[in-house]
Amino acid sequence: MARELIVDVAGLTKRFGPREVLSGVDLSIRRGEFVALLGRSGSGKSTLLKILAGLDTDVHGQVRVDGTVSVAFQQPRLLPWRRVWRNVVLGLGERSRDRALAERALAEVRLAGHADAWPRTLSGGEAQRVSLARALVREPGLLLLDEPFGALDALTRLAMHRLVEDLWREHEPGVLLVTHDVDEALLLADRVLVLGEQGRLISEYPLAPARPRRLQDHFGVRADILD
Ligand code: ADP
Ligand code: MG
Repeated sequence: MARELIVDVAGLTKRFGPREVLSGVDLSIRRGEFVALLGRSGSGKSTLLKILAGLDTDVHGQVRVDGTVSVAFQQPRLLPWRRVWRNVVLGLGERSRDRALAERALAEVRLAGHADAWPRTLSGGEAQRVSLARALVREPGLLLLDEPFGALDALTRLAMHRLVEDLWREHEPGVLLVTHDVDEALLLADRVLVLGEQGRLISEYPLAPARPRRLQDHFGVRADILD
């Protein structure tokens, strides 16, 4: 049975002054779908994510997004003067002091024991996992990932792929992953979209559901090596 539609965008056009960055974009994402978005620098990927996140409403066309949306960016943007656990539950209102909630989310991203650490003591991969915990704690129906692994070294990136895949299977949000990395898109996503130079979604590659989806299947690596 088809899952519920959580993103329904039709004829979306976005201009910055005279420049049309997105031109008539149509996009739908169902809950539990993992969609990758490829495109050159400056093609409008981040702009599209910001619009889906509700951070930019100055647009033409239809933008419907249902439920809670979380975003994780390339830079984790942690507040340096808050301990890790406070960063995770930041902005959650009455739950912003819920340490147990933060610790559960940290355990999910394999950072149990780092609750009291200061952000500056974390590696890039750890900081990015805190950013994922912060996204997950909101129990999003839609998770927007804007090149979240772009600044990480190759092995850390592999570990992050595995983590994101595990979290996606566990929580089944819809995911829109922006990436420069074609292999990453093909590995993780159900569907790959390409944002072209003219601000149009030019291609859509549905991927065979039967292909191996686990990183272990691809590389034959022991799961614990990457933890
Ligand atoms: P991508 O994420 O694909 O690299 P962006 O969505 O960040 O691209 O940007 C798309 C285009 O829109 C770029 O040319 C960028 O310079 C321009 N742009 C992005 N944000 C703004 C803004 N706030 N004001 C003016 N131009 C912008
Ligand atoms: Mg961008």
